[in-house]
Amino acid sequence: MSLYCGIACRRKSFWCYRPLSTYVTKTRYLFELKEDDDACKKAQQTGAFYLFHNLAPLLQKSGHQYLAPQHSLLELERLLGKFGQDSQRIEDSVLIGCSEQQEAWFALDLGLNSSSSINASLQKPEVEKELTGSFTELRKALYQLNVKDASLLSTAQALLRWHDTHQFCSRSGQPTKKNMAGSKRVCSSNKIIYYPQMAPVVITLVSDGTRCLLARQSFFPKGMYSALAGFCDIGLS
Ligand SMILES: [Zn+2]
Repeated sequence: MSLYCGIACRRKSFWCYRPLSTYVTKTRYLFELKEDDDACKKAQQTGAFYLFHNLAPLLQKSGHQYLAPQHSLLELERLLGKFGQDSQRIEDSVLIGCSEQQEAWFALDLGLNSSSSINASLQKPEVEKELTGSFTELRKALYQLNVKDASLLSTAQALLRWHDTHQFCSRSGQPTKKNMAGSKRVCSSNKIIYYPQMAPVVITLVSDGTRCLLARQSFFPKGMYSALAGFCDIGLS
């Protein structure tokens, strides 16, 4: 019996150790890419890109589900070339995560005006046709994506939106420049560093024990309901 317990405990610690180790390794790797532009650029060579157009992710319909296709750097360069854009536009991409095998994942918006390139946004229908997908409003597709893609695309959309709305320094009015990973922006004039902000929110599930109070807005897709949620104001407690 004691031998059995010994094996069980050892097994338990083995399984406890592995996810923690993977988490630490991934976090360290992502931190390195956020701090080192050269390492981040190198990671793009073997990385995967999720594409957006005006903050709507490129999705492919598969039955009742949506899939979020990934594209390699080479495929992306080919796509940009086909639409007369230079590959410098890839510098607008933001790091959104990595796999357990340290394949870095990036997101790039082809519809927003580029800050690192003189080229205008790409035309949505042409890109959709070329990539056999459609740029879909994330909010409407969220529950038809798997958990990993839903989380990743939400992160990507928030980060892309933050970069799009923080292109100028609020102190000097001068342009800010993102680092390669997109984890910060720096003012070209007074070197103020801006980091992406988080907006605290509260979500509440009201229940009488067996039933939940849910609500829906008119634009929600059929069958979609939500618990009650709201933003926290400054100083609210
Ligand atoms: Zn400034």
